[in-house]
Amino acid sequence: MASREVITVFGATGAQGGSVARAILEGKKFAVRAVTRDVTKPKALALRDLGAEVVKGDLDDKASVDDALKGAYGAFVVTNFWETFNKDKEVQQGKLVADTAKHLGLKHVVYSGLENVKRLTGGKLEVPHFDGKGEVEEYFWSLGVPMTSVRVAAYFENFPTAWKPGKASDGDYYTLALPMGEVPMDGISVADVGAAVSSIFNSPKEFLGKAVGLSAEKLTVQQYADVLSKVLGKEVRDAKITPEAYEKLGFPAAKEVADMCRFYQMKPDRDVKLTHRLNPKVKSFSQFISENQGAFKDL
Ligand code: NAP
Repeated sequence: MASREVITVFGATGAQGGSVARAILEGKKFAVRAVTRDVTKPKALALRDLGAEVVKGDLDDKASVDDALKGAYGAFVVTNFWETFNKDKEVQQGKLVADTAKHLGLKHVVYSGLENVKRLTGGKLEVPHFDGKGEVEEYFWSLGVPMTSVRVAAYFENFPTAWKPGKASDGDYYTLALPMGEVPMDGISVADVGAAVSSIFNSPKEFLGKAVGLSAEKLTVQQYADVLSKVLGKEVRDAKITPEAYEKLGFPAAKEVADMCRFYQMKPDRDVKLTHRLNPKVKSFSQFISENQGAFKDL
């Protein structure tokens, strides 16, 4: 039997890359080479148990990116802005993969991109964790690397973590603070990204050279709050916070998240119908919250 072609997965020990690595392994069409800086960590060992080749690699190290991509048919690439809060670093990492993919002649890269909001808004809005990925998308395409960009909507996983509803000061209820006004915001469980990306690898002709916005559904903040209320049995309301008030909340990314929501209010293209075709098992917010009620037990 001919051996399977290899897809190198960066970020394989993380949320997006882990989901992609598992989905490709389940699909059995391609072999997976999972890249991590620490091959001894439990998530790396778990991938090895599932049949992945686990290799040591660092996106800041040219030689190891070269080794990770050598002989591969394709690659999934996600960079982690939040580890360094440094757009330039993220751009440098993405461009290194693009240059190497070009040099080695990879057949299909799926890059976890986002829009260059700063360029699209003429500098009015600045969302560094989007802008850098947008620059890298543009770079991939300028080199002519066969690439599909997946622009992943806000993770549902943010709701039990960074966006967990806060206790109201004036009553027995909770508030969800996201400055979206009445505009619906796209969301998806990051665990469902992998199957969609695997489908993209299986249909290169349809997706090469395209950007695909992945979203399970679009809900207003009040609708997200309604689902939380219904499933958790606690009253959750839209805090009705404005972007102006949000950016004054004082945590490090407050301004950035406010501008991200201003950009979301411009309704960037996230394709719910296509996402359901790429991953027919993609979960709704309601399903996700039902399955993750434990994460809200301190509410
Ligand atoms: P994650 O779960 O924290 O995983 C980060 C991964 O990146 C790990 O596997 C880590 O591998 C790898 N990594 C970090 N630095 C590396 C380096 N120098 N060399 C090689 N690998 C490196 O993060 P994630 O959620 O999968 O992805 C984060 C990205 O998703 C962010 O850039 C964010 O902007 C984007 N995103 C997030 C959302 C959201 O709603 N949260 C939505 C869309 C997009 P090792 O530590 O094992 O080496």
